Amino acid sequence: MSCLALVPAAGGGSRMGAERPKQYLPLAGQPLIRHALATLCAVPAIERVYVVLAPDDHYWRDGDFADLAAKLRVLRCGGATRAESVGNGLKAMAGEVAEDDWVLVHDAARACLTVAQVEALIGAVGDDPVGGILAVPVADTLKREERGRIAATVVRDGLWQAQTPQMFRHGLLSEALEFTPGVTDEAGAIEALGLHPRLVAGDAGNFKITYPLDLYLAEIILRHGGRRGEQ
Ligand code: C5P
Repeated sequence: MSCLALVPAAGGGSRMGAERPKQYLPLAGQPLIRHALATLCAVPAIERVYVVLAPDDHYWRDGDFADLAAKLRVLRCGGATRAESVGNGLKAMAGEVAEDDWVLVHDAARACLTVAQVEALIGAVGDDPVGGILAVPVADTLKREERGRIAATVVRDGLWQAQTPQMFRHGLLSEALEFTPGVTDEAGAIEALGLHPRLVAGDAGNFKITYPLDLYLAEIILRHGGRRGEQ
């Protein structure tokens, strides 16, 4: 059984309000997308890393990904939603993978991912029959809003924030996304089949870069976090 990575990177990143898709914004001296791809390629257990670009992407060719070429495969089949991009990627890679192979789906926008986090996920999921995801327990008190006021405090016990990578077998994940295409993460599609993915504790450093402040935080982590990938 093999491990493969699939990185959906066909989004526009409109919440960033930048002149180009956020995955191509400069971050610690590289295009943002390069950080997660380099980390995934550095994981010995991962055989290949597939990146899903928008069909009309014209930023990728400006980057230098030559040192990742041994593992990196580019698929130009992004869709209108993240789930569609992942589903299209799973179809495009199907000829090169077995039904039981693990696919680790990871957001390009989680640039601070470390090799240690990926290896912790792979180790914890092991030969689990369902699969699992990196996640962190919710730390803040949560409020439900109605018309600008607090309607209720939501009990946070047992609540986790889902991250990526999310690790499922190629066959099961393909089937799940066909069955429930309107999900915001892979686990949601697996859950809709009545299955219960494993939660694997990650850390807050693996956050999704969404707003301009996130870029600043990611820059600090990547520049001053030491060789986090080797911790
Ligand atoms: O927009 P958001 O940050 O939630 O997107 C998460 C990931 O999904 C990003 O890496 C983004 O490029 C990707 N995505 C995609 N196709 C879309 C929308 C988002 O591959 N249509």
